[in-house]
Amino acid sequence: MSIGSDHQARDLPVIAIVGGGVSGTAVAFHLLQRQTLKAGQLFIFEPRKRLGAGLAYDTQDPAHRINVPAAKMSLLPDDIEHFQRWLQEKNALADDEAAVAANGGLFPRRSVFGNYINSMIRPYVEDGRLVHLGQNVERVQRMGHRWKVTGAAGQSVEADILVVATSHPSPLPPRELQEALADHPRFVADPTRPDALAAIRAGDRVLVVGNGLTSADVIASLALRGHEGPITAISRRGLRSRGHAAVKQELFGDFVSQPSKTALDLLRRVRTAIREAEAEGRSWHAVIDQVRAQGRHPWQALPVEERRRLVRHLRPFWDVHRFRVAPQVEAVGERALASGRLEVLAASVAAVDVTDGVIDCTLRLSRSERRIDKQFDAVVVTTGPGHRGILQSQGWIDELSNAGFLALDPARLGFACDMQSHALATDGTAVPSLFISGPLARGTFGELMGLPEVVEHAVLVAEQVAGAINDYKPEQRKAYWDSSAA
Ligand SMILES: Cc1cc2nc3c(=O)[nH]c(=O)nc-3n(C[C@H](O)[C@H](O)[C@H](O)COP(=O)(O)OP(=O)(O)OC[C@H]3O[C@@H](n4cnc5c(N)ncnc54)[C@H](O)[C@@H]3O)c2cc1C
Repeated sequence: MSIGSDHQARDLPVIAIVGGGVSGTAVAFHLLQRQTLKAGQLFIFEPRKRLGAGLAYDTQDPAHRINVPAAKMSLLPDDIEHFQRWLQEKNALADDEAAVAANGGLFPRRSVFGNYINSMIRPYVEDGRLVHLGQNVERVQRMGHRWKVTGAAGQSVEADILVVATSHPSPLPPRELQEALADHPRFVADPTRPDALAAIRAGDRVLVVGNGLTSADVIASLALRGHEGPITAISRRGLRSRGHAAVKQELFGDFVSQPSKTALDLLRRVRTAIREAEAEGRSWHAVIDQVRAQGRHPWQALPVEERRRLVRHLRPFWDVHRFRVAPQVEAVGERALASGRLEVLAASVAAVDVTDGVIDCTLRLSRSERRIDKQFDAVVVTTGPGHRGILQSQGWIDELSNAGFLALDPARLGFACDMQSHALATDGTAVPSLFISGPLARGTFGELMGLPEVVEHAVLVAEQVAGAINDYKPEQRKAYWDSSAA
């Protein structure tokens, strides 16, 4: 059934958004703030019940907290404390004393942030200006000037403008683990699934593959569930996500004037700025936050080869400083480390075998010939969003790329797009009616994973979509209807 042809006015442009996490929902919200749309013009495909939560905030696990203070997590970039005020107005932390960190910052549960975004978009869904189709998109076909977007339940929307806001695919577990453990009851390949850790027993020896934010979440969730067994957390470099500064830091450094032309020079400038900041009694957070705030400029000033070099060599270091653990979650990890229950190794999995449910693992220590054998009862994969195979991650994405409408960006972090966030076709030309919103646009925009940047980017996309609506020529639509009716 085609919804577009049933519900939409024939002379009005129709917009379809694929993905209703924060990115897609924020595009819808800011578009609706800018543009008067009629019912049946704006559609969003999202299989989750709640719009606005997405993978990050669609969790009921009380151990999962936002990792950026509430005062920086607003849906309204011009009113940065909006979420913090919303928390107070709704008394949303009444049952959660632990949300207040020692430095006074608020780190509520992630589900509460999902509630906030949802509460902002719900009025538009209720009055029909935004239609939420609760299904996965399975096909996108180009038909004349339009996109036919078809969901898993068979409904389709014929859209003039398409926004892709699906973010990165789930991580792929290392091949050795997938092959050896696919049927093991305590192999958790995707810990973001609801109750993913339920099968892990209190005394189990757990291997956590990855040391970033999801790893920290898993360790905190296990503790909350009463897990007391030993945990080994591995990653190639053994680097763990860092915590927040003990006191608020003013931004420090300048990475915009005379921007670096090489990744190495940028690294040197960051290191120098950290030394200078520390000499003034500040912490490295002040510098990393400045790089993040100015991030677009230094990223865009780097030639493509240097961007690739930066991704290859420096991303792991950047990620652990830039993605910070909520203080409450950090405290759980620190306690486990101090008690010796948690060990963190720079290692990878060399071999895996299972005997009577026990997982025999050979770990290859990084920068060494040494291998160590260890036994585990459970393995959890926390290697972060998948950057490999983005174009093949979903059938319709694969089809769009085969048809030439989507291509990988040169740094292979997501889809190629221009500075207006139009997708770039395989021949390098912009596709005027196809936009990329959210982390999949980070190859062009630089730092685009955290909520503040994701929302700012969504505003840019909403402005571009609003511009495309204003430039819309009904004759194109009419020609389409005339020819399809013929
Ligand atoms: C576990 C986790 C925790 C995080 N916590 C924080 C935090 O505390 N603070 C912070 O600043 N940042 C955090 N982030 C960063 C996060 O990337 C952004 O804050 C933001 O949520 C990204 O939103 P998104 O909509 O782009 O992606 P997602 O949340 O991944 O949403 C994408 C949506 O697209 C939908 N989708 C995918 N394919 C299809 C399809 N074919 N059809 C229809 N829908 C589809 C999915 O169902 C999903 O809901 C976190 C990220 C993760 C993964």
